[in-house]
Parts: sequence; C-alpha cells; structure tokens
Amino acid sequence: MSFKQFEFKSQITTNINSCGYEHPTPIQEQAIPRILAGKDLLGLAQTGTGKTAAFALPIIEELTNSPRGKVRVLVVAPTRELAEQINESFRELAEGTGLRTVAVYGGVGKKPQLDAFKRGVDIVIACPGRLLDHLNNHGLKLDKVTTLVLDEADQMFDMGFFPDIRRILKHLPQKRQTLLFSATMPADIKKLADETLTNPEEIRIKLEQPLDLISQALYPVSKRQKSALLLHILKHNPVDGSTLIFTRTKYGAKNLAKKLLKAKFSATALQGNMSQNQRKKALNGFRDGTFSILVATDIAARGIDVSLVAQVVNFDLPSTAEAYTHRIGRTGRARRSGRAVSFICFDDKAMVKAIEKLQGRSIEKVTVDGFAMATKTEAPQKQQRRPASKRSKTHQPGQQKNRSGNKSKAKRKPTPGKSRNVFGVG
Ligand code: AMP
Repeated sequence: MSFKQFEFKSQITTNINSCGYEHPTPIQEQAIPRILAGKDLLGLAQTGTGKTAAFALPIIEELTNSPRGKVRVLVVAPTRELAEQINESFRELAEGTGLRTVAVYGGVGKKPQLDAFKRGVDIVIACPGRLLDHLNNHGLKLDKVTTLVLDEADQMFDMGFFPDIRRILKHLPQKRQTLLFSATMPADIKKLADETLTNPEEIRIKLEQPLDLISQALYPVSKRQKSALLLHILKHNPVDGSTLIFTRTKYGAKNLAKKLLKAKFSATALQGNMSQNQRKKALNGFRDGTFSILVATDIAARGIDVSLVAQVVNFDLPSTAEAYTHRIGRTGRARRSGRAVSFICFDDKAMVKAIEKLQGRSIEKVTVDGFAMATKTEAPQKQQRRPASKRSKTHQPGQQKNRSGNKSKAKRKPTPGKSRNVFGVG
C-alpha cells in the first residue's frame, strides 16, 4: 500500500514525504478513503496507530478545495498536550497550503487565541472548557464547520467533559461530517456516538504491540518503601534508554520527581498542576533526552506520543487492568524490547489478578532483599497526601509517629540487597 492511492495534492504528498511517512498505517488505509468520501466515522483506535494523520490528511485535502478564513474544521481533544500535538501534525501536513490552524486550551492567555480568530483560521483544535469560553464570551462562531473530530472520546468522558461537548454541539451545523475516535467503547461513548454520528463507518485498529516484547515484573513492596525500591532498581538494574514512571496522584508525581533529582537522576514531573509552559518543557525535555526519567499521572500522560521508552514503572498500579496494558504499551514499541516494573502492595492483590486475567498469563514476582509487601492494608502514604511543609512541626527527622501520635524510632532504612535480574540487563 502506498499514499499514492489517495491522490492527494502534490503539496500534501510533499509534506507526507517530509514527515518521513513511507506507507499508510492500517488506520490510515481504512480511514482516509472513507473520510474523503464524506462518511461519518467511528474509529476504535489509540495513540500510536497514526490516527492523527488518518483524519488530518483527508481533512486538509478537502479544505484546500474551498475558500479560506472561516472555521471549517473543529477537533475537540481532552488535554492541552494532545491539542498541541494534533495542532503540530496539522501544521506539518498542511505546510505550504495556506491553511491556518490554532490550538485552543486553558491555562494560557486568551489573547493569542483571539488574535488568531481575528486573522481567520480554518482549523481549530480545542479542549472543551476554553472553547466554550470563546463561544459564550468572545463571539467565536462555528456555524461554518463542515467536519467535527472528537478525539480520545473515552478520555473526555473520564474527565467529565461530555456536558461541555453537548453544549459545543449546539453551536455546530446539524449537517456536517463527524469523526469520533476512542480507545475503548463503553456504553456512554456508544451513546455519544449514536447522538452525533449519522450512519457511521466503523473501524477497529489494534495497536501492534506484542506483549512478548515487554518483560514484565511485579515487585511486592510496602507503600513506605516504594521510593527506596525505585532508587535501588534505577541504580542496580538500569536500562539503556528512558524511563516513564506512573503515580496515582499529581502530588505523588511531583514529590517523586523531586526525590529522584535529589538522588542525582535527571528526572522531571508531568502533572496537571503544572503550568502549560512547565508541561511543555518537561515533555520536550523527555522527548529530546534532556531528562531520562518522566514521572507522570495517567491523565497527564494520556494521548502523548512518547515512543521508544525503555522502561515503564508503575510506582502505583492504575485502577483498571486495561490502563495497565495501555501504560506498559509505552515501551516495547517499534519492535524494540522494553520492560515494565510494577510495585505491588497488599491492597493491589485484586488488581494484579485482573491484570493477569486480561493477559491470560501470570506475571513474574521479583523480591529484593530488604523490601517486602506489608501483610495487611497500610495507611495511605503521608507524603502523597500532604506537603512536608504542612506536616507536624514536632515531627523530627529520624523519628516517625505511630498511629496514636507517639514518637518512635524510625525503622532502619532497608539495605538494598541483591535482586534477581529477570531482564537480562543491567
Ligand atoms: P498518532 O497515533 O497519531 O499519535 O501517531 C503516532 C506516531 O506515528 C506519530 O509520531 C506520527 O508522526 C507517526 N506516524 C503517523 N503516520 C505515520 C506513517 N504513515 N508512517 C510512519 N509514521 C507515522
């Protein structure tokens, strides 16, 4: 299969070549002809399949046939990073066509976005909240939109964006082409699809990612020993490449990145409380190798294309088995091997079972001397809930309070011992 079959205009073909795309990916093969034919589309696909170009290319081809300067395409995406990433793809693929795009999201000044509207844009890539603000308060019009793309619909649902999306839909012409992409299709997404799509063509694309390329290991550990175990693994069992670490909370991500920096690892955090500029810096730094470790929450990392990650660490397990597969899928891409390390505590037993059931195999457990899982449910980690500055002033280093508030001698730090190397690296 070649891009030639789609008969794109020569400028677009030049741009495809400049991006280094030689052959269409499976989702591109299936989606491009359908979108060019004006069909609505329901695409079950996730990031990494080439889905952005799958909708961007036919959209650009169509837009070059009609007058410029009015918003004719709206792409709605859940996170600022994804909006930026999609905007970047549109820019690259529409280079030299004269089409204008703008990414619209909160957390940054409105003026550049308003200036772009004034100059005239053809394609708006937006997160729901800021887009509604522009629609309600700044006179943005979407009545000339011919194509609507809803990207990562399941993520938008998880983030509570569906009411906003329904409000946005009221600003769009009834007669339009709608493309909806989602990695999963639970009932709520199906309902939105039924409401927004007309006789859609359905395509399902599996991300080619043989789990066999990823060596997985579970490390039983108590909550309070997780950071020490992480440092132990990073020091004694390093990987050749970058490490992506997932934490459950934004504060956990920030705190852990700090600890890693203190231990002289080049690490950065990516979480929702950071400004847009900080997030951009973190992500670009991780992509270009300035930082070899990125500590992120699921929401912040979702939809972000960081390929060639050598190791994924689940510092905290995710809340679903599917999310585990999605997380570890960040490594083992492009036929390279990767490894997935997961810390498991007493309370994670049910989740481990669910993960193993989904994969139809059991995952090896690795014990490291000096580290062990607690034998009963532990209290949540203090540092994950409250910043150190807000903790009790009477709490001295070297002492820790027991549950009744009495001070006791802090337990001796584990002396990291030998771990069994199941990866054949390090
Ligand atoms: P996406 O799923 O849209 O996030 O794309 C994942 C990655 O695949 C991005 O880095 C794209 O630049 C890249 N990509 C998209 N289409 C192709 C293609 N036909 N050939 C090679 N790489 C591609």
